[in-house]
Amino acid sequence: MLQQTRVEAATGYYLRFLERFPTLTDLAAAAESEVLTAWSGLGYYSRARNLHHAAKQVAASGLPQSYNAVLALRGVGPYTAAAIASIALGLPHAAVDGNVVRVVSRLTNDSAESSSPVARRRFGEVAQRLLDPRRPADFNQGMMELGATVCVPRNPRCGTCPVVKFCAGHAAGRQNELPVKLPKVAVREVLLDVVLLKQAGSIYLMQRAATERRLAEFWELPEKQLLPGAGLEQFCEFRHRIVNDQFRVTVWQSPTGKAARLPEGGWFDATARAGMPLSTITKKALKAAAN
Ligand code: SF4
Repeated sequence: MLQQTRVEAATGYYLRFLERFPTLTDLAAAAESEVLTAWSGLGYYSRARNLHHAAKQVAASGLPQSYNAVLALRGVGPYTAAAIASIALGLPHAAVDGNVVRVVSRLTNDSAESSSPVARRRFGEVAQRLLDPRRPADFNQGMMELGATVCVPRNPRCGTCPVVKFCAGHAAGRQNELPVKLPKVAVREVLLDVVLLKQAGSIYLMQRAATERRLAEFWELPEKQLLPGAGLEQFCEFRHRIVNDQFRVTVWQSPTGKAARLPEGGWFDATARAGMPLSTITKKALKAAAN
């Protein structure tokens, strides 16, 4: 849940998720729609699908006992595999995320563009060399914590840093220049018009196809272009950011609550909607309508 998501945003979801799926077996036995429903609103839904799939893999073959077995689980990359292998299994694998890249690039005064594969490999090798094989979990968590609280992106707190004596970047006065990054990708504005149709406490929703690359099988409000000539009125507007796309969402309503011809979908009351995976944009629109 913490991939691309802040702790404060994920905590509530995490607690509710564990309440809903208290054991690995519960998660493995659940239908995908139940897992997506519990994840609804948190975004990046491939994480939920991967987690569910990984739970099934583990339920079928047992808990992984090596770095490679952890890495073989769906959705687990080298960073997560190293974190699990070191923290859960005590194995000597350095976990290298953005925080650790920043610390290592500064410690070694390395000016390489930090997202390049060559630099990533080199930072990983340095972290692996520094790792204390007797305490890999403490080392990895120490590095993550150092990057999150002391060696922060802007104005690192070198005056209180426990490794200042070994830091070549600090010695060279380059701590604020490192790591070297590519210029940011421009944010794209995306206009989206959706329609909120209400009928006796129910809302009209459509399901995305299973083949969609984004939000497959999620339920959402119909787009305005699917309801031509419905005599709609603008209801509210809000913004929603997904990676480099800044969505400007306009919600439309029908004054009569009706539209002549509806695209394929259905009417769902609050109880039914609570058990359905809804996109974050749909959730925001429904929340606005409830106020
Ligand atoms: S001395 Fe400064 S730049 Fe070096 S690791 Fe510590 S906080 Fe980061």
